[in-house]
Amino acid sequence: MVSTTDYYEVLGVSRNASTEDIKKAYRKLARKLHPDVNPDPETQEKFKQVTNAYEVLVDPQKREMYDLGGDPLASGGGAGASAGGFGGGFSFTDIMDAFFGGTATRGPRSRMRRGQDALVRLKVELREAVFGATKELQVDTAVVCTTCTGQGTAAGAQLSTCVTCGGEGEIKQVQRSFMGQIMTARPCPQCQGFGTTNPNPCTECGGDGRVRTRRTLTVKIPAGVDNGTRIQLSGHGEVGPGGGPAGDLYVEIAIERHPVFTRDGDNLHCTLQLPMTAAALGTNVELETLDSKEVIEVRPGAQAGEKIRLSARGVPRLRGTGRGDLIIHLEVETPTKIDSRQEELLRELAKLRGEEHVAGPGTVASQGNLFSRIRDAFKDGRG
Ligand SMILES: [Zn+2]
Ligand SMILES: [Zn+2]
Repeated sequence: MVSTTDYYEVLGVSRNASTEDIKKAYRKLARKLHPDVNPDPETQEKFKQVTNAYEVLVDPQKREMYDLGGDPLASGGGAGASAGGFGGGFSFTDIMDAFFGGTATRGPRSRMRRGQDALVRLKVELREAVFGATKELQVDTAVVCTTCTGQGTAAGAQLSTCVTCGGEGEIKQVQRSFMGQIMTARPCPQCQGFGTTNPNPCTECGGDGRVRTRRTLTVKIPAGVDNGTRIQLSGHGEVGPGGGPAGDLYVEIAIERHPVFTRDGDNLHCTLQLPMTAAALGTNVELETLDSKEVIEVRPGAQAGEKIRLSARGVPRLRGTGRGDLIIHLEVETPTKIDSRQEELLRELAKLRGEEHVAGPGTVASQGNLFSRIRDAFKDGRG
């Protein structure tokens, strides 16, 4: 695979720059582009490119491969990926790697690694979930140690070449087999494969290059999020060891209970309790929806359980267009305390309507109705 980015250009160094020059150029850029300094996505993208360029050019073998036209980052396998591209540049161990899957690490590994992703939960009100919001969020996370700018060394101190592996980061062993010599390599136990040791670590971060801190982030919540929706903030997770790029932060939405509305997908539901007389006569009721105040018209003779639907007053569709509906469920309240005058009027009404003796004993049909109603009520009561 041919690389389309010029790593030398990305780091702003010449083609014959020394490893020391490359390190210097990277440090300078990393200080400027680090997500803690410049969290906008464009800068983070640039930071990733710069880190990629650095990873390749700082490693003599990867740099050689890159100079020959390969991209050592184009696949996880390293040597195996470019095997078809050029023939002459491979050492014996490269070929062995290609045979055995290319799992062995080449040379010392970088002290710089990508940070971990993090997950935080954020409580939002229903209104914020419906219309979207910008919220501040406090996260405890690892950021670059400002004392050593991620290097992990004390002021004026340097990393020193590991004496056990001589800076190779691995201990090689040669064994004879039917194929000839086989070279195996294992990470150096003295330096954990870094090729360097840190005899004077930074006192602030203990050599890790990062410190834990609490910081405040601003999160944009898109309209229509639901419980469990995750918002990805790339580059806002933990910074990696050695000043490595930060992982991503995922914000998981938890919607607080609303006193009036419950949500079911894109629809909102609420209950309207009507006095018996209002249900019979019809009425207008003012309802404060999440959008505005609306006048709900209840038709004369409205029944308990009836629904009134306000279209497009629900939740906006997170993926797609339009909004769900707001559904009002009618409940009819029977008065429980009535004075003698009211009782008199109700009896008169019942008499006028021939309802003084409803479901009188002995009629099979009405008993059937009665029984079924009790069963329904029982079922409803239990949910
Ligand atoms: Zn430090
Ligand atoms: Zn070592």
